[in-house]
Amino acid sequence: MSQDIFVVVEHLREQVADISHVMLAGARQLSGSTGGKVMAVLLGQNTQGLANSLAADGVLYVDHPSLAEFTSDAYQLALAGLIQERSPRAVIFGHSSIGMDIASGLSAKLGFPVVSSCRNFTADGKFVSQICGGKIMAEGELPAPTALVTMVPGGYKAEEGNQPPAVETIAAPALDNLRISIKQYIEPDTSDVDISKEAVLVSVGRGIQNKDNIELATELAEALGCAVSASRPVVDQGWMPTTRLVGKSGKRVKPKIYLALGISGAPEHVEGMSDSQVIIAVNTDSNAPIYNIAKYGTTVDMFDLLPVLTDKVKQAK
Ligand SMILES: Cc1cc2nc3c(=O)[nH]c(=O)nc-3n(C[C@H](O)[C@H](O)[C@H](O)COP(=O)(O)OP(=O)(O)OC[C@H]3O[C@@H](n4cnc5c(N)ncnc54)[C@H](O)[C@@H]3O)c2cc1C
Repeated sequence: MSQDIFVVVEHLREQVADISHVMLAGARQLSGSTGGKVMAVLLGQNTQGLANSLAADGVLYVDHPSLAEFTSDAYQLALAGLIQERSPRAVIFGHSSIGMDIASGLSAKLGFPVVSSCRNFTADGKFVSQICGGKIMAEGELPAPTALVTMVPGGYKAEEGNQPPAVETIAAPALDNLRISIKQYIEPDTSDVDISKEAVLVSVGRGIQNKDNIELATELAEALGCAVSASRPVVDQGWMPTTRLVGKSGKRVKPKIYLALGISGAPEHVEGMSDSQVIIAVNTDSNAPIYNIAKYGTTVDMFDLLPVLTDKVKQAK
């Protein structure tokens, strides 16, 4: 068994996903306690160039036409042999629809347990998982010999490496008779405002209570000259369009200011906004996980705050 930490790189349409850089930062810390190397595992076709931005000691690159787009089938086949052959101490995946899909399948295939929703590692190599929508932090020893770990954002900054790591090309196994293939990408609706390009976002969560109350957030956003975005329950209820959804199943945003109104800070939401420069939380529950990532926050009731804040912004103008 080696003490290396593998990180399975998530990428889409020639872009490395931020969660990959977060995982590499987590792997770097974990490797401090195992004494092994941080090895990025990059699967794709003609995607070797993506290795350059990875903060890893080395990259294991598997190139194959069937890996050109992510499918759980092909990824699992390509990874199973590599993991069995190299026996890393841990393999880290994003706690994303992609990572959860591969990790659970590999767990069943290889018989290695999955540690889910890991947010960070401790200095002595324990995992810290953020469970129950982020309300409970669970700490434990990483199962041996090889632990499969899915990682949520929020524990580490997504930072690129300073210099391109060495790349080792690995021969792909036979990837025949795959059950899944990608036929077409469906582009998102672009007729509405693109929240991923806004410098300031006023974002509403379930705490807003009903569709009519969204007007309070809209008034503030108009005064600030920015857009309103939302968490999933708000969109699921039909109070705001899907183009405004922030998170795992919506858009990733990186505004200068993200004002989270009545948003608890569940991992699926945080995944889409944790790279905002300044996060300000307004949440009556002082234990809400949003406060783990907010720079500023207040537990006042947003319905008391919003009219006053909007007036102040208008006056200041
Ligand atoms: C596969 C999958 C994908 C998902 N994708 C996404 C995604 O892309 N985006 C997303 O957002 N979620 C997503 N979710 C859902 C996610 O798990 C959470 O359920 C969701 O983010 C919770 O939204 P919320 O914070 O608005 O609501 P809640 O968790 O219900 O939080 C509401 C908050 O409002 C606060 N509050 C209530 N009243 C007030 C008040 N008057 N003033 C101030 N604060 C108040 C409460 O204290 C509470 O913390 C996904 C879930 C799954 C399983």
